[in-house]
Amino acid sequence: MGIGTHLTVDVLVVGFGKGGKTAAHVLAEAGRRVILVEQDENMYGGTCPNVGCVPSKMLVHYSNARRLEDDAQEFFAHSVAGVKALTDAFRAGNFESLNGKPGAMVLTGRARFVDEHTVSVGAGDDQITVSAPTILINTGSEPILPDIPGLAESAHRVSSTDLIRKDRLPAHLTVIGGGYLGLEFAGIYRHFGADVTVLESAPRFLPREDDDVAEAVTAILSGDGVKLVTGADVLEVRDEAGAAVIVYRTEDGTTELRTDAVLPATGRRPATSALDLNAAGVAADARGAIVVDERLRTSRPHIFALGDVNGGPQFTYVSLDDARIVLDQLLGDGKRSTADRVAVPHVLFTTPPLATVGLTEREARASGMHVRVSRENVADIVAMPRAYTVEETRGLMKFIVDADTDLVLGAALLSIDSQEIINLVSLAMRHGITATQLSTSIYTHPSSTEALNEVFTKVVG
Ligand SMILES: Cc1cc2nc3c(=O)[nH]c(=O)nc-3n(C[C@H](O)[C@H](O)[C@H](O)COP(=O)(O)OP(=O)(O)OC[C@H]3O[C@@H](n4cnc5c(N)ncnc54)[C@H](O)[C@@H]3O)c2cc1C
Repeated sequence: MGIGTHLTVDVLVVGFGKGGKTAAHVLAEAGRRVILVEQDENMYGGTCPNVGCVPSKMLVHYSNARRLEDDAQEFFAHSVAGVKALTDAFRAGNFESLNGKPGAMVLTGRARFVDEHTVSVGAGDDQITVSAPTILINTGSEPILPDIPGLAESAHRVSSTDLIRKDRLPAHLTVIGGGYLGLEFAGIYRHFGADVTVLESAPRFLPREDDDVAEAVTAILSGDGVKLVTGADVLEVRDEAGAAVIVYRTEDGTTELRTDAVLPATGRRPATSALDLNAAGVAADARGAIVVDERLRTSRPHIFALGDVNGGPQFTYVSLDDARIVLDQLLGDGKRSTADRVAVPHVLFTTPPLATVGLTEREARASGMHVRVSRENVADIVAMPRAYTVEETRGLMKFIVDADTDLVLGAALLSIDSQEIINLVSLAMRHGITATQLSTSIYTHPSSTEALNEVFTKVVG
């Protein structure tokens, strides 16, 4: 294939994210001719398996496995090599399973719309065009670089992708932004042995969570030695010999912090700038997110947008559910929509993780509902010896219940295994299982789920 080549297929998928690849597999199996275009040969499978969820959670695992006698630098290099081996294997598997499927083909190159049915792929002599009556855009998101003087030019600025790939542990890491990604990396690098500072501009961390929950998370991170600074206005980043100096101001005055690596973690924006959406007549909002309806159709009804690029919650499992909705439009009865999503959980992979779903206590009380709150510190939950058997007794479990109906309205679980338990709680919320039913169910022993036998009985408000 080369310049002048034009391909026509039934479905064109732009971007190898979770939603796009899932849809591509199913559509090819259903007999459609599918081309999926991915701009980067290091990204087959998308962000999650290459530079997102999988490597970052493997680093959480490795960082917690470090023993005091391990040399920090050697152990870190060993860990990054382990991550690379896994992500290489996942990437190859992603490519081969789709490209090897009858009816499906992966094209490597950056896609740009030429008209509402056609993209051009690649550049120069390798440029080809692909047309399809149905197009799925799944180009993900990219980090936002905050407008801080000197940051863009700093040789010490790193992205989460750099941190996953570099095998040299920084002696000191500064994270700008205390959101999910920032706190996860802060915990990981601290456990590997780096000094870590997190600079957050808001007056507190995790502003969406209840005060008791946010305080419990920050107490654990601080207890592990992460320096957490709130109300920090970063004024400048300046490179000096061998280090960056970060100048920030709080109500206590101005501080100059020397650091080896600076991670801006102030959010990610939809990756649409290279797509030339105008050429296809696809509307985007001011942030660059593709505007979609509840069935993920864009302003051009034959073009769908899935995953981070449509401005929805930035999670792999949301991109996957987007694929279910689009597939339902293309192959099913078209009933699924984003509006029928109930109780979608989230996890912050600190150690232990914070898993949340539904309403916080503050939100539930503000709604005027008659609310019952149960809460217990993990160390006090007699029914959950697992916390003691794995020597992780930090955290708390909190449930918000509608006192009139006994239905669970929300949960915040800061505990070992909470990334698993939250799925059970979410399922219960979706299917009307009451707090009493959850509390009196039979669970395996010793497990973390057993905590539900007890925590609901600890009513605190
Ligand atoms: C460090 C980190 C940790 C994370 N941890 C978690 C987690 O634990 N759990 C979780 O659920 N989520 C996590 N996320 C978020 C999750 O990775 C994303 O929400 C998810 O991967 C989004 O997938 P997607 O389907 O939107 O597209 P992506 O997986 O981002 O894929 C988009 C693909 O499109 C390609 N592309 C972009 N533009 C073009 C173009 N013009 N032409 C061709 N190809 C193009 C890109 O190269 C990319 O491969 C994490 C993210 C990061 C960065």
